[in-house]
Amino acid sequence: MKRKLPVVKNQKLEATIVDLTYQGMGVAKVEGYSLFCDDALPGEKVKLHVLKVGKNFGYAKVIERLTTSPDRVTGKGKAYSQTGIAPLQHLAYPAQLKFKQKLVSDLLQKAHLADLAVEQTLGMAEPYAYRNKAQVPVREINGKLTAGFFKRGSHNFLPLTDFLIQDKRIDEVIQKVLAILQKNQVTAYDEATHSGILRHIMVRRGHYSKEVMVVLVTRTNKLPNKEAIVNEIMAACPDVVSLQQNINSKQTNVILGDKTQVLAGKEYITDQLNGLKFEISARSFYQVNPTQTEKLYQEAIKRAGLTGNETVIDAYCGIGTISLSMAKHAKKVYGVEIVEAAIADAKKNAALNNLDNLEFEVGNAEDWMATWQEQGIKPDVIMVDPPRKGLTQSLIESAAKMQPKKIVYVSCNPATLVRDLQSFMELGYDVTQPILPVDQFPQTAHVETVTVLERKKRE
Ligand code: SAH
Repeated sequence: MKRKLPVVKNQKLEATIVDLTYQGMGVAKVEGYSLFCDDALPGEKVKLHVLKVGKNFGYAKVIERLTTSPDRVTGKGKAYSQTGIAPLQHLAYPAQLKFKQKLVSDLLQKAHLADLAVEQTLGMAEPYAYRNKAQVPVREINGKLTAGFFKRGSHNFLPLTDFLIQDKRIDEVIQKVLAILQKNQVTAYDEATHSGILRHIMVRRGHYSKEVMVVLVTRTNKLPNKEAIVNEIMAACPDVVSLQQNINSKQTNVILGDKTQVLAGKEYITDQLNGLKFEISARSFYQVNPTQTEKLYQEAIKRAGLTGNETVIDAYCGIGTISLSMAKHAKKVYGVEIVEAAIADAKKNAALNNLDNLEFEVGNAEDWMATWQEQGIKPDVIMVDPPRKGLTQSLIESAAKMQPKKIVYVSCNPATLVRDLQSFMELGYDVTQPILPVDQFPQTAHVETVTVLERKKRE
């Protein structure tokens, strides 16, 4: 029999917000049925308009806020939550940090791991303008090239000049570049007709080096008045050390295409993390919040308890940022990463820092873990920093078979972290220190954590 749902579409009702989702939406419960809504905080009484009713949960819009949470802050503007750039911007920062801690402990509790402690979230002193990288879509509004963002879950374009969480210089460079392109008859991409020229502008800026990279993402090879554009950008923004064009001819949401060419300057920018130098090219994965990344790595290294004698494996090593940081405190570090270009960068970065105790391999972390295990490599510490989907069972098994004293798990998704911790526990590992959330993404609901597992002592 079909269960009767307690709400219907278009119904208006009063409810109290009881929780926030991992995307930062408020949750109201009606007879146990969850309704999700934007811009609503726990404790607030609201009048809702039900927009969508699904079998297990629905969506609603707040039509009136009847009471206001003491944690609510105003003044930044609703646009930021609507675009998903800063879905938690209406929540005071100390409450954001508490929310992230609670999100991890709630997941542990659901998995019957309530006895694992979660530390207070390590926050940022100034939780805005932290991103060192921007990829903003460009559209034509009233005949003008305009940067902005799409409303969450839609193709509605919202113009923006201040992106709130991006390095302010990046915001400035975007406006300067747009003015130059406009003057030189560059048109904006039009999604509906798959015509026009400029799709996105990507900008990266070194936090310490202050070097700027600008990548113009165009639909075809064609860029009118290319020479004038290049000269004018380089003259208007003396800090641009790398100007590139990326060509993306596909009808897709993916931002970068396969072809990139340097229009002026170098192929990369350099920056530093904890005193180590890195070369970062247009396509490399590089952590977007440099100050918090330094803290995250320091905590991971401290918790790994390195003394200089250890063999370390860094799975999912990217361009080697964690590997190099660990190599300074270990005997030998093995890194593996699936993107070939990232490993090329990792090797270059090791040389750049005069470190010769690292070996990097291209491939699947899972396969290399099994290979290293067969080769008899005995790591003291295994470091994992996987993408959102977490680890595979086979990687977990290979890691456990090598019997490292410690496994340090850096995670960007607490849900898969908790699942993987359960697997490690079944294979003889225990979480031995409180889990530490580090706020890499203030104003958003993303949570990054460091967890330490140690091999259980035999009785
Ligand atoms: N530790 C790095 C990168 C972490 S992001 C840093 O802090 O900068 C996760 C990385 O895992 C990405 O670089 C991604 O390319 C890589 N990756 C994804 N799936 C992988 C797999 N199956 N095997 C190895 N690396 C993988």
